[in-house]
Amino acid sequence: MSPVRPVLAVAAVIGMSVLTMGQARDRAKIEDQYTWSLAEIYPSVEAWRAQKTTIAAEVPTIRRFAGRLGDSAQTLAEALETGSRLDKELSRLYVYASMLADQDTRQSEPQGMQQEMQQLYAEFSAQASFIEPEILRVGSAAIEQFLAADPRLGIYAFYLRDIARRAAHTLSDAEEKILADAQPLAGSASNIYGILANADFPYPTIALSDGRPVKVDQAGYAELRTRPKREDRQRAMSAFFTALGAFSRTFGTTMNSSVQRALFYSKSRKYGSTLEATLDGPNIPVSVYTRLIDGVNRSLPSFHRYLRLRKRMMGVTDDLHYYDLYAPLVASVDLQYTPEEAQRHVLAAMAPLGPDYLSVLRRAFGERWLDWFPSEGKRSGAYSNGGAYDVHPYMLLNYQGQYTDVSTLAHELGHTMHSHYSNTTQPYALANYPTFVAEVASTFNEALLIDYMLTQVKDDATRLALLGNYLEGIKATVFRQTQFAEFELRVHEMGLKGEPITGDALAKLYLDMTKRYYGHDQRVVIVDDDIAHEWSYIPHFYRDFYVFQYATSFTAAEALATKVTEGDAAAKQRYLTFLSAGGSKYPIDLLKEAGVDMTTDEPLDLTIRKMNRVMDEMEAILSRQ
Ligand SMILES: [Zn+2]
Repeated sequence: MSPVRPVLAVAAVIGMSVLTMGQARDRAKIEDQYTWSLAEIYPSVEAWRAQKTTIAAEVPTIRRFAGRLGDSAQTLAEALETGSRLDKELSRLYVYASMLADQDTRQSEPQGMQQEMQQLYAEFSAQASFIEPEILRVGSAAIEQFLAADPRLGIYAFYLRDIARRAAHTLSDAEEKILADAQPLAGSASNIYGILANADFPYPTIALSDGRPVKVDQAGYAELRTRPKREDRQRAMSAFFTALGAFSRTFGTTMNSSVQRALFYSKSRKYGSTLEATLDGPNIPVSVYTRLIDGVNRSLPSFHRYLRLRKRMMGVTDDLHYYDLYAPLVASVDLQYTPEEAQRHVLAAMAPLGPDYLSVLRRAFGERWLDWFPSEGKRSGAYSNGGAYDVHPYMLLNYQGQYTDVSTLAHELGHTMHSHYSNTTQPYALANYPTFVAEVASTFNEALLIDYMLTQVKDDATRLALLGNYLEGIKATVFRQTQFAEFELRVHEMGLKGEPITGDALAKLYLDMTKRYYGHDQRVVIVDDDIAHEWSYIPHFYRDFYVFQYATSFTAAEALATKVTEGDAAAKQRYLTFLSAGGSKYPIDLLKEAGVDMTTDEPLDLTIRKMNRVMDEMEAILSRQ
């Protein structure tokens, strides 16, 4: 029920869709048609303020149902309807405040409005916290009787039965209270890591090949490793990881604390492992996780083929090194697209999804759902926000006209269409789609866009650039994220077995694993020793078993896009049904009904097959040159 769906984090970790603030301009000079219209949510800040005052007064009224949920089906229905309505209104208030703040982060009034909403949300959560434990105490048998007695409860059946499903892992009131009281401690490892990595860490300064000094902090490193000049990216990577390695004992200690936290909660809740505990929330079988790791390991020969192709395209005559992996694959092809051209390409690319889908896209373009351009103080990056349930989704872009910007537009529109169809089909209580499927609709649209662009582009250089861009996506999303997922699993296994989790142990584990993934022993890529410390700069390791979803979303989207673009009308209909289903089922079931079974190898196999077809074509183009 979080007001902002977690789509932004993905762009940040994959590093593909994140645009930087260039060419900032004065917002007042941007034509209205390129800015979003927040007036559909509230006509003015005053109107927002009035509604916030009304809702804030209503929040405590949820308490009138405390201790009464088992009284009757009617009382339970009224309680859930009240909670759902308040949540929906809070979400609308929050979305307005946060998007107003993102327009110009220098303005203090919208920042204050956002903070007010965070506080009001926290208060609502506290006031409503009695609901789930009380439903558990009412018990499954009584809940089933209530469901049969009052049809208003129908839309809450999934939610009510899901609470019952987790009953074996819910503790007594006193024990739950202790776990809740421990929550502020539970964030310590991640908080300390974040402060060290983002604020206090003494990042080094190096001299580039032209003698210019440059600081290798996180942003600097991300830019420097893409430098065309080999010497520069080598120096930057070596300096960055050597510096991190000097704090290996500290990073090892924070990582150990994080694993111990996860172990504490999984044991308290009577789970066999931390992986089992994490995946039980969205009801995902553990085998989905382990099967991905096994499948990607089996597919390493295809990954090595990509790495050899990269070496050939970069013209590296000696060994390819790890510090070469982010350098441009092809000399940049300077394609520029106006917003109107981008819209035209996206509409043409999405044609396989049918006229209704296209008509909603036209509404998004014509009715100011998007905020297109960078401007002074505007938040960087890109996102789609579907939290204003009764209005329509909104998108923030920082559009600069490159192909990656067109791709980002298609990506965010994927989220928007998912929200639009779910919000207009499902009741609020079932509209919010689960994280496991959140990146499917967006990645699906990127796949359709690249397929379409390849039908339009005939010249070899541009085709190579587009195909190369696709391979970079697979490398970053499927292979790299699965390697992270495997590393995380092994670290948690060490914790479960009581083995010491230290900086040294983690560095050895990470280096060995990276050498295996990148074919170090076969000299596919030379993984230099300082790469051992790369793990310590990945913040996602403090979010248990999160990153594998980037890889599974990608393979699910590839499989679904393949089926739809092959012209299967039933496949298209199943996909549109998935977009309309929100969170009305468990994620594995949603995807199964869409046409892809994540408990099998099919989605990964289809992705790897497509990857090899792309490499066939690239090699054919290269041999013509
Ligand atoms: Zn996304």
